[in-house]
Amino acid sequence: MSTSDELNSYPHVAILPSSGMGHLMPFLRLAATLVQHHCRVTLITIYPTVSVAESKVISRLFSAFPQITEKQFHLLPLDPTSANSVDPFYLQWEAIRCSSHLLTPLLSSISPPLSALVLDVTLTSSVLPVTTNIGLPNYIMFTSSARMCSFCESFPPYVASKTSSGSVQFDDVFEIPGLSPIPISSIPPALLNLNNLFCTTFIQNGQNIVKSSGIIINSFEALEADILHGVNGKRAVDGLPPFYSIGPLLPCEFEKIDNSAPVKWLDDQPEGSVMYVSFGSRFASSNEQLKELGDGLVRSGSRFLWVVKCKKVDKEDEESLDDMLGFDLMEKIKKHGLVIKDWVNQQEILGHRGVGGFLTHGGWNSLAESAWHGIPMLVWPQFGDQKINAEVIERSGLGMWIRSWGWGTEQSVKGEEIGEKIKNLMGNNPLRAKAKNIGEEARKAVGVGGSSERMFKKLIEDWKKNS
Ligand code: UDP
Ligand code: UDP
Repeated sequence: MSTSDELNSYPHVAILPSSGMGHLMPFLRLAATLVQHHCRVTLITIYPTVSVAESKVISRLFSAFPQITEKQFHLLPLDPTSANSVDPFYLQWEAIRCSSHLLTPLLSSISPPLSALVLDVTLTSSVLPVTTNIGLPNYIMFTSSARMCSFCESFPPYVASKTSSGSVQFDDVFEIPGLSPIPISSIPPALLNLNNLFCTTFIQNGQNIVKSSGIIINSFEALEADILHGVNGKRAVDGLPPFYSIGPLLPCEFEKIDNSAPVKWLDDQPEGSVMYVSFGSRFASSNEQLKELGDGLVRSGSRFLWVVKCKKVDKEDEESLDDMLGFDLMEKIKKHGLVIKDWVNQQEILGHRGVGGFLTHGGWNSLAESAWHGIPMLVWPQFGDQKINAEVIERSGLGMWIRSWGWGTEQSVKGEEIGEKIKNLMGNNPLRAKAKNIGEEARKAVGVGGSSERMFKKLIEDWKKNS
């Protein structure tokens, strides 16, 4: 085969993310990795994005990879009063779902013809019928843990079996064969209300996920050994689509923004001395909790790099740190740490030698990134899948989760308690050693012949068969 024939035999894949950085980032990293494996990639984009961070990172991807084709998807207007949610990210998911029939002409017009579409799990039930109709294989990228994915597949039949007269009688614990039990207090709180938009779409997506050609997960064996090890044989017997665990998806240069202040500050700190604190791209703590957290960080005696958010969507986040935290607390904070109210290069921070711990909300991307860098975590779940993810981190030995803190919005955790737990994490040498070991396992997984690298190659081979 000539080199050009060989390149032509590589698949052409379209990818369709949904909104929110936690959903977008793994798709963009997948796009970059596919290009590095010689695949043709078309990225389906939607403007306006909900956050500024999303539109900026998309344009950085296209600058770094001009060979990725853009196909813009123009959504029909959504009447927000028709959807039972006020969350702008969920409303965007719903707008995409309601416009998904428009994908038929869009996907059919892409040239050369596609081998597969990779779509976000949140769009499953509305996009799968489209791809099935045009005979295009569809792969779901599940943007959370394999544990959460198993829960997602099992939730709809569970609800059906527990519903009588329109209401669900939940047991205390959710049992899934092959998995440690999930307490009902760990499932996303929105799922307890069957009328909630998140719950209705979660159930529809969970019912349809099994109809896909495969499920791509940003996880790896050392992190979720109990679920991933040998899973595909059993799934094939049960008629379920295979898991392609290809994680951790690696940090890419295009993600980096021009913000060198955190790294400059870290350069002056002793090795492993800094606790990095961030609750992701879309969680806003209450002012009261922010003050307690600030107090806790000061009490911990540790150095810290703290990224603060006080609004769910970045463009609305205008209050100053002084106004939020108060002059006295800010003065104390400045003696021990750096506090920032801005987008940071999280991967660069987690990879810096100064960082020795991560206080995180438990968003799956943050956890996978910390695992990659071998940084131990204190997980403080705030909403959604984060308690189920925290269980994964605790079971893998990569971090701690203080159950009594509950969901972030349930109660205010006092500074004294937070300070003590941070001190415990930063002084826990066995945990540091275990985290370092998982970081090494992550490198083996994506290295030549590793479990994730083999899965990635298999995915491309499977797509080639569709070409
Ligand atoms: N992130 C970042 N800088 C920030 C905040 C977040 O780079 O200031 C990235 C982070 O590295 C991760 C993503 O945004 O890749 C957040 O996803 P995650 O699943 O951790 O949480 P979510 O934001 O969806 O709650
Ligand atoms: N999820 C799902 N089906 C849905 C919506 C969400 O499986 O219809 C999963 C998905 O993996 C997502 C997780 O539930 O990452 C939590 O969603 P949430 O919006 O609470 O958090 P986010 O991912 O935006 O941080």
